[in-house]
Amino acid sequence: MSMPTSLALLNTFGLNQYCDSLVEVTSKEELINTCLMLYQQQQSMFILGGGSNVVFTDDFEGTVVKVSTKGIVVNEDAGFYYLTVQAGESWHQLVEYCLAKDIYGLENMALIPGTVGAAPIQNIGAYGVEFNRFCHNIEFLQLDTGNLVNFDNQQCHFGYRESIFKQVLKNLVVITEVTLKLAKHWVPEINYGPLQHFNLLDVTAQQIFDCVCMVRRSKLPDPKIFGNVGSFFKNPVVSTQEYDLLKSRYCELVGYPQADNHYKLAAGWLIENAGLKGFNIGGAAVHQDQALVLVNLGHATGNHVCQLAKYIIQIVFEKFAVILQPEPRVIGSVGEIEIK
Ligand SMILES: Cc1cc2nc3c(=O)[nH]c(=O)nc-3n(C[C@H](O)[C@H](O)[C@H](O)COP(=O)(O)OP(=O)(O)OC[C@H]3O[C@@H](n4cnc5c(N)ncnc54)[C@H](O)[C@@H]3O)c2cc1C
Repeated sequence: MSMPTSLALLNTFGLNQYCDSLVEVTSKEELINTCLMLYQQQQSMFILGGGSNVVFTDDFEGTVVKVSTKGIVVNEDAGFYYLTVQAGESWHQLVEYCLAKDIYGLENMALIPGTVGAAPIQNIGAYGVEFNRFCHNIEFLQLDTGNLVNFDNQQCHFGYRESIFKQVLKNLVVITEVTLKLAKHWVPEINYGPLQHFNLLDVTAQQIFDCVCMVRRSKLPDPKIFGNVGSFFKNPVVSTQEYDLLKSRYCELVGYPQADNHYKLAAGWLIENAGLKGFNIGGAAVHQDQALVLVNLGHATGNHVCQLAKYIIQIVFEKFAVILQPEPRVIGSVGEIEIK
């Protein structure tokens, strides 16, 4: 008999919704068999990693499959290490594991919460480095055929917080395993903000890791204290023309030039300068120090979070004519919904 189970401790926003049943899978075989069985019985299912990029707005009428599969295998050739990692491994623990084995490259992405299996979905990134830089292969279960399929880096169509797994393959596959390719000849990435004071010639991966951890701990609210999902909105990308127009009105506007005549704007700056820092609806608030982060003041519901997000999108649009896009996945009673 399945039992309604609270998801409160399984999502970093701390939203207290229930699911009809919860299955925790600890081996790849169990993950595949469970998902195929639910799919074939046409039961609603939701695949859950660390719950650090989801907002539950209702009780989920179906089965939540919590991915807790473990295992890391390291292979190498003359130039590279290849790490094949099970989907349920913790991303941050993988970063630490690599550092301890003198395998470098992931240190800029320290302390990103969640699982390795979720990392390719939104192509996680931080401090100038994105997951796709190291992605060699993604293995996933295709639910309709029951086949295990392998995609190389190109086939994943990675972009800024984007991949094929959020587009045409959304909800059709379950990522089972990820293979990363890390060069033995390490090139540090220190172009981003707080890392710029390091010297390229003598910086160590451990120093970058320590600096990233320190800055993140000081900047981001700890989900154990104030529930959150990190950045709530993507940084919007606008044309140079739009950027120039905004910059002429707001000289302090923060934007970073991109390839092909575009600029990435700092969403946090837009929210803060729309006067929304600290603003709240019910138990959900714009964080006092980090306007890009929405927090649970204690009794937020997923609906408070969505109402707040909608309001922010509206006000930012009215003031700057820029459309903010939410980063987390919003899950209603039967599956994913859009904040509109
Ligand atoms: C404090 C904080 C800081 C953050 N900082 C960053 C940051 O710097 N950069 C960044 O990119 N992100 C950041 N995030 C967001 C989050 O950490 C990432 O999106 C992470 O990859 C989510 O992993 P998860 O395992 O928690 O996914 P979940 O939240 O469990 O799931 C997210 C989505 O992926 C799907 N999914 C999960 N696992 C699988 C699987 N194996 N197969 C198929 N679908 C799956 C789920 O169904 C869901 O739709 C932050 C979050 C928090 C709370």
